[in-house]
Amino acid sequence: MKVIDKIREAAVCADGEGAGSGKVVFSFEFFPPKTEDGVDNLFERMDRMVAHNPNFCDITWGAGGSTADLTLDIANKMQNMICVETMMHLTCTNMPVEKIDHALTTIKSNGIQNVLALRGDPPHGQDKFVQVEGGFACALDLVKHIRAKYGDYFGITVAGYPEAHPDVIGPDGMATLEAYQNDLAYLKRKVDAGADLIVTQLFYDTDIFLKFVNDCRQIGISCPIVPGIMPINNYKGFLRMTGFCKTKIPPEIMAALEPIKDNEEAVRNYGIHLGTEMCKKILANGIRTLHLYTLNMEKSALAILMNLGLIEETKVSRSLPWRRPTNVFRVKEDVRPIFWANRPKSYITRTMGWEHYPRGRWSDSQSPSYGALTDYQFMRPRARDKKLKEEWTVPLSGIEDVCEQFKKLCLGKLRSSPWSELDGLQPETRIINEHLGKINLKGFLTINSQPAVNAERSDSPSVGK
Ligand code: FAD
Repeated sequence: MKVIDKIREAAVCADGEGAGSGKVVFSFEFFPPKTEDGVDNLFERMDRMVAHNPNFCDITWGAGGSTADLTLDIANKMQNMICVETMMHLTCTNMPVEKIDHALTTIKSNGIQNVLALRGDPPHGQDKFVQVEGGFACALDLVKHIRAKYGDYFGITVAGYPEAHPDVIGPDGMATLEAYQNDLAYLKRKVDAGADLIVTQLFYDTDIFLKFVNDCRQIGISCPIVPGIMPINNYKGFLRMTGFCKTKIPPEIMAALEPIKDNEEAVRNYGIHLGTEMCKKILANGIRTLHLYTLNMEKSALAILMNLGLIEETKVSRSLPWRRPTNVFRVKEDVRPIFWANRPKSYITRTMGWEHYPRGRWSDSQSPSYGALTDYQFMRPRARDKKLKEEWTVPLSGIEDVCEQFKKLCLGKLRSSPWSELDGLQPETRIINEHLGKINLKGFLTINSQPAVNAERSDSPSVGK
């Protein structure tokens, strides 16, 4: 679903209290981690954060296109594994139109409907943005291209700069009135060309943001403007980021940070306090959307939302026993095999490559569509891939072989199964595994079972806990 439609829905549906009161929605931004372990850990973190029901999450596009493949992969998993409405950033830096289209068609085929269209910064080591041959010069061109080529499929977000774009901020830390107004006029052109949402650059002076929103309205920009809030996590990082973005730092913030700058915890707590106060003021001015730059950290963003009463520590809300799919092609699915009920994040990913079932891997090996067990079909931690391939990429000449394979799994002769993260079956299955083996040999393939264990003691080694 498009983020803009979710924001509009929330605007007229305030916790069931009727139209008009405007529910507050929030979102989280992440960036692609540098290491493989970092990526794995990011998904775990996202999973925990998504349990608090953000309106959407976005993933950045590395400077100069440096993380293109990783960003695409993470975006896909966010939408289809974490099941959160995902917005992918896309920049024009080093991106001829073919690469832009590759990225857009990839996310489209993965059921993602949201793009943050950006020009991008100059590649590392260069001062000025240079349009690559066969590419675009600015975000406006990218927005026009997306609308022309993909029609209404994508919701398009663009960047807005409450203090004007850093390129036009002078040595005194300010843009001239003319430069600020040019920036606004250009923002309006991005919206007129088809962008339906604006997310802002980080800021620490809330009045500047509120004035920016007002100025946008004055020149006819009517789409939602989402404030980008970056909680201060550590002093040096804060100075680096605000220096890079040429962000104005109100003197009272510097005064509060100066005496605590070497105490990381105190700085983080102050960042939470400041972020909370900024958001309170923004919400008090009628804005109902908050976008948190998490820097891949969880604590500060969640603490701010808790302080605002927007989330509760223990509350995990789900309308179904599993997380609803967000993939636009699968949103209507409301049935799951029971086995997956308590593993909501895996079902969509696991079944992504199964659309040709039963003409795919588990079928007649003479068939032209008989496929191999690919990594794509079994997206799971790398360590498991090898075991799975060894045990499940075996010659199958008929249904009997398939039944035999399932029987082996039930009898504990295989250590892995394509549909479970666990090693082998649970100890409780031993109570019925001989029966399961026989059932499978009769052609009823079992993927799930529940032995009857009424009145068993809770310290039983096999069925207790
Ligand atoms: P544009 O909208 O094209 O504008 C840049 C500047 O040029 C503006 O001052 C504008 O007024 C001026 N300008 C451009 N074209 C014209 C024109 N035709 N006429 C008049 N003025 C023009 N960078 C990344 O590399 N990856 C990311 O994932 C990323 N995410 C971001 C997310 C947000 C919310 C924001 C605010 C920034 C993000 N950036 C990211 C940084 C961004 O790429 C840089 O700020 C970049 O320098 C400008 O991108 P833009 O899309 O704002 O550019």
